[in-house]
Amino acid sequence: AISRNDRDREVNIQVMLRCRPLTDEEQQMNVQKAVSCNEQKNEVTLLLSLVNKQLDKTFTFDKVFGPKVQQRSVYDHAIAPIVNDVLEGFNCTVFAYGQTGTGKTYTMEGEMKHKGGDLASDAGVIPRAVRQIFDTLEARKADYNMKVTFLELYNEEITDLLAPEDHSRFTEDRQRRPISLMEDGKGGAVIRGLEEVVVYSANEIYNLLEHGSSRRRTADTLLNKQSSRSHSVFSITIHVKEAARGNEEFIKCGRLNLVDLAGSENISRSGSREARAREAGEVNKSLLTFGRVITALVEHSGHIPYRDSKLTRLLRESLGGKAKTCFIATVSPSIHCLDETLSTLDYAYRAK
Ligand code: ADP
Ligand code: MG
Repeated sequence: AISRNDRDREVNIQVMLRCRPLTDEEQQMNVQKAVSCNEQKNEVTLLLSLVNKQLDKTFTFDKVFGPKVQQRSVYDHAIAPIVNDVLEGFNCTVFAYGQTGTGKTYTMEGEMKHKGGDLASDAGVIPRAVRQIFDTLEARKADYNMKVTFLELYNEEITDLLAPEDHSRFTEDRQRRPISLMEDGKGGAVIRGLEEVVVYSANEIYNLLEHGSSRRRTADTLLNKQSSRSHSVFSITIHVKEAARGNEEFIKCGRLNLVDLAGSENISRSGSREARAREAGEVNKSLLTFGRVITALVEHSGHIPYRDSKLTRLLRESLGGKAKTCFIATVSPSIHCLDETLSTLDYAYRAK
């Protein structure tokens, strides 16, 4: 973990690595594994010697989750402490970063379907965080107010996944309604036209989530490249009233952002592909800028390029300052993904 203090700036970024298991299909095809995780030492080794004359390469992270680690365990180790900080009034953000197909959405959403109030065992970070927040507030008998937003960012355009559907109009058109992002003059951003839903129960959020994420998936099949190139941001803002002291009331405000980033192959620095992507105007500006912002934050450089993309403008208040950030890099164990896996690990390691 990094928690460096210099006069007025503190950076708090936790970097974790999760390697998924081989899929059934990969197993049937006897795909060789080229990633080895040591959870005791929080090390991950890339078996580069299997494919060329290079030596194997080992990286250390704040936490390493191997292929057998269950959703619940990832949550308990990586996310539960952050959610407690949110309830104490901090801004916290969890990012999933990695190549398409490595488990970003599985980690963040997993199985969103639920039976009544019970989470599925495959439920990911978002539904579990919602559960923890409500359980904690209810146990404290707290007086609180909670709002959620859920949006998708594609090609620097924001789509509201919680916008009410207007059945009288062509639905697709309605869903793709662009929304504008404006500075609030205090260093934050406001999104005009974004639906902020006031929620009173975990079940209510589960229903919104299920609906919002299915909208994301519906759009996928229509525009097949979109899923790998879009970012989704789910945010919960909580105001908790403190016990009154005298006549004054105190309110703590915390926010949790849960971000499923575009596939990292969209910014891979692997020479020719980058050039081709650039020509096609396909370099993912938000993902590139996000990387630069994280680098600038950890290197304590003077200028932090928040303004260069929508994603970083949107999350500005939650990156840097007193905010806490958890970065989960996801990788595939397959030998066929070694190049991308190496670039994901290099990237995540720079954030450390
Ligand atoms: P991404 O969002 O990074 O493109 P997905 O989350 O869609 O990747 O994961 C790709 C596939 O791998 C899905 O079928 C998902 O259920 C499966 N998967 C990913 N991570 C795990 C894991 N840790 N354990 C079991 N299955 C996983
Ligand atoms: Mg995904």
